[in-house]
Amino acid sequence: MRVLVVEDEQRLAAALRSGLEAEGLAVDVAHDGIDGLWLAREMPYDAIVLDILLPGMGGYQVCAALRAAQIWTPILILTAKDGEWDEVDGLDTGADDYLTKPFSYAVLMARLRALFRRGAHPRPAVLSVGAVRLDPAQRRVWLTETDNDNQVEVELTAREHALLEFLMRRADEVVSKRDILDHVWDVDFDGDPNIVEVYVSRLRAKLGSARIQTRRGAGYQVVPGAG
Ligand code: CA
Repeated sequence: MRVLVVEDEQRLAAALRSGLEAEGLAVDVAHDGIDGLWLAREMPYDAIVLDILLPGMGGYQVCAALRAAQIWTPILILTAKDGEWDEVDGLDTGADDYLTKPFSYAVLMARLRALFRRGAHPRPAVLSVGAVRLDPAQRRVWLTETDNDNQVEVELTAREHALLEFLMRRADEVVSKRDILDHVWDVDFDGDPNIVEVYVSRLRAKLGSARIQTRRGAGYQVVPGAG
């Protein structure tokens, strides 16, 4: 597995290189966005670890440029804790995952392994599962009415949208509550995990109760079946 690390903090970049190499990965490092983008376009990486605030070209733009060039290498965004970055925006620009600094190698490796498993897959501009269509860039959702094929727009809050997008991007998997908390809330979320159920209920109320299935003990899955 070959990973590109784009990180301008020299010490962190060096630590990432040695940590990932110790896990048996081949690692290239770029210290600014322009070099990072060039390498990502020229070399076949299995994943890219991308910092946000970078000289030359920010992680946002690198990510968007790669996706615009139809390069679907999985991207894990590194973000500082101070709110410089909104995870929901991160997913919108075509990143696959994000991690808040400081992070542990165990968590980083677990996330990278998950990205390796999923591999590079095209990210359609508009997601569609059964009668539900979701446009991540516009943050709009539509429901097709079964009797007349009319598209009815559904109003969702930002969090409801983020949850639905996360589930729809993984419609072929059962998604655990922990995964949802980590990605739609925050890795450090330490509130009541039942918040996920509350939001799933809200989505069911708006989209139809059967569209999001509960898999006992495992998690949730969006299914094409009628609502
Ligand atoms: Ca930085």
